[in-house]
Amino acid sequence: MKRVICVKDLYKLYRVGDSVVHALDGVSFEIYKGEFCAIVGTSGSGKSTLLNMLAGLEKPTKGQVVIAGRHVEEMREDELVKFRRENVGFIFQSFHLIGTMNALENVAMPLMFKGEPRKSRMKKADRMLDLVNLKKHKKHLPNQMSGGQQQRVGVARALVADPQIIFADEPTGNLDSHTSEDVMRLMQKIVREQNRTLVMVTHDNHLAEFADRVFHISDGKIVRIENKAEQKEQAEAKNQDEGGKSNETA
Ligand code: ADP
Ligand code: MG
Repeated sequence: MKRVICVKDLYKLYRVGDSVVHALDGVSFEIYKGEFCAIVGTSGSGKSTLLNMLAGLEKPTKGQVVIAGRHVEEMREDELVKFRRENVGFIFQSFHLIGTMNALENVAMPLMFKGEPRKSRMKKADRMLDLVNLKKHKKHLPNQMSGGQQQRVGVARALVADPQIIFADEPTGNLDSHTSEDVMRLMQKIVREQNRTLVMVTHDNHLAEFADRVFHISDGKIVRIENKAEQKEQAEAKNQDEGGKSNETA
């Protein structure tokens, strides 16, 4: 499997008055191409800090973040802007859609920053909205859509420039539980079908069930990594095994 993200001994300290907050306290892990990883922890555990370091939005105090073979922590601001534009898609809790633009125009935005001609921007955005099941809402403004529909626009926008990695910080934090599950299933499907790499941060343990691996973070440390994909395989194997046994006794 191809390694896409490699984090080594990452520390982030914040000085607040006379005290020091260890927002990240020696974090190391690897993420592979095609994985859906969830970083789960309570409020204040360091999730957003970690995601900001991964995306190069903040500099670590110590340690390394290597993405697609490049050291993010060593890049200058102009290099980071280019790197993010070419390699990373973001999904935000509050959607961050532009209110005066319709769904198509919002999805096409990242391609404008890449300097793509309008016709090809609109064509790609159109295809992305089909992918997230918003065929009938392409001309709708954000305030003419439900929260779930707006976040599906957000998902389409994160994917349109064909990034290697997608980062999502509490992507369903503003949605009800039913809609949240719909959005999670959509993200899960896209990761599988398009072999994308998705790193999602959430405080909601239940949503982490949709991920392949779950990283539990507490007080700035990764305390446990669960392999859901492996757990599912084992459970299925066990089920088949038991099915076989009951057949034998029958
Ligand atoms: P989470 O996203 O899991 O809720 P954060 O990563 O936002 O947690 O914060 C982790 C810890 O770092 C918290 O104790 C928080 O108060 C602290 N922290 C985050 N950002 C700053 C900052 N800019 N200055 C000082 N402390 C911060
Ligand atoms: Mg946070």
